[in-house]
Amino acid sequence: MEFDTIAAISTALGEGAIGIIRLSGDDAIAIADKLYDGKKRLEEVPSHSIVYGYIVDAPSGERVEEVMVSVMRAPRTFTREDVVEINCHGGLMSVNRVLHLCLKHGARLAEPGEFTKRAFLNGRIDLSQAEGVMDLIRAKTDRAMNVALNQMDGRLSKQIQILRQALLETVAHVEVNIDYPEYDAEQMTHGLLQEKAQFVIQEIDKLLATAAQGKILREGLSTVIVGRPNVGKSSLLNSLVHENKAIVTDIPGTTRDVIEEYVNVRGVPLRLVDTAGIRETEDIVERIGVERSREVLKKADLILLVLNYGEELSSEDEALFQAVEKMNVIVIVNKTDVKQKIDLEAVKKLAAGRPLITTSLLRDEGVDQLEQAISDLFFEGEIEGADVTYVSNTRHIALLEQAKTTIEDAMGAIEAGVPVDLVQIDITRTWELLGEIIGDSVQESLIDQLFSQFCLGK
Ligand code: GDP
Ligand code: ZN
Repeated sequence: MEFDTIAAISTALGEGAIGIIRLSGDDAIAIADKLYDGKKRLEEVPSHSIVYGYIVDAPSGERVEEVMVSVMRAPRTFTREDVVEINCHGGLMSVNRVLHLCLKHGARLAEPGEFTKRAFLNGRIDLSQAEGVMDLIRAKTDRAMNVALNQMDGRLSKQIQILRQALLETVAHVEVNIDYPEYDAEQMTHGLLQEKAQFVIQEIDKLLATAAQGKILREGLSTVIVGRPNVGKSSLLNSLVHENKAIVTDIPGTTRDVIEEYVNVRGVPLRLVDTAGIRETEDIVERIGVERSREVLKKADLILLVLNYGEELSSEDEALFQAVEKMNVIVIVNKTDVKQKIDLEAVKKLAAGRPLITTSLLRDEGVDQLEQAISDLFFEGEIEGADVTYVSNTRHIALLEQAKTTIEDAMGAIEAGVPVDLVQIDITRTWELLGEIIGDSVQESLIDQLFSQFCLGK
């Protein structure tokens, strides 16, 4: 394929020590040569080498920047096109200036995600791998990063391809039987279809089983701290934030009226929401409104319900338990350093088998146990299997679910004795749906939309 040459700043904007301007396309090297002044012209340096020199502003010849330039010739590059990376060590100003010189000499400013899009269009990566790149950029914990890396590595693609191959062989087999009816194998065909459909359903189920965890790894476990005023909710939020690496996030649309913090608790990314206690009604109506706070609760993946060790259980506490009845709850009895007034047996009853942790946030006691409980709840005690392929992307999950429905339809039709050439329609549809995961048969508009979610310069 032929594309024009694009350029963008490919490091995070800001005070970074170095900035990289990346060029990709047929004219990448020629354009870079117009602004580069070094021992050799870039056209002459071998592929995959780095050279030292200056960026000059022709025609004045003024030296703008001292740079290191990497030259990588197609096809062994990320985009499969010629790629030049100009490493400047200046701040934002000089990086921008070099970028402008690239544009002045014929490059076009890349759209968000356009480098990755080219890698996809040039056949270097498939769509699920491209989405892996995107997830990697946003990964919040090491585990989340591993999920993205595996996806980028094509592990999901390989599994999808195995399934598609199985479906394709089935379809081919059916075609043969239709084309050569004298080769009477109707009976055998039904058996084979059933077997293949069963296999595909089973494998899709395995992938979908990882989806809930994968999604949480990707998006964070939305966690709400509830409790009566003064039980220690804010203290709990603070201690979780201070003991754990806070995760920097730039997710758009993060509302400011509800305080949100991302933290990494033993590999589980928590998105902590401090609702200021759903019983602090006067307060909360003012701050986020009753409806809003109920919504926040409903959407939560995990509730940390905090009680006061130094006070008797109240009807408000019991109302809280009712409000979170069917949810993932960890009960925390805080302030164990004060004189006990709470009836722990009664709390146990209310907790109804859900984890119960006692803490003194004042003395920094019990937080470890709490973190362990969070991690146990999430990973359900299983040691994270090295070769589990997590499906984490919402688009992939939706497609897998559709594919499952379609193949189940096919299965039902087979069992009902529907002629194979009709069953084949569902099988072909399943094959198409799985193909969309890796970018086969995806419409152009969808591709544009997906890649526009990338950061600039990726
Ligand atoms: P919130 O209203 O539920 O957010 O409660 P805060 O976190 O603001 O805490 C209320 C008060 O209880 C503050 O004065 C805290 O310092 C105090 N506090 C929090 N945790 C403990 C604890 O474990 N023991 C004692 N004695 N006081 C605590
Ligand atoms: Zn508070």
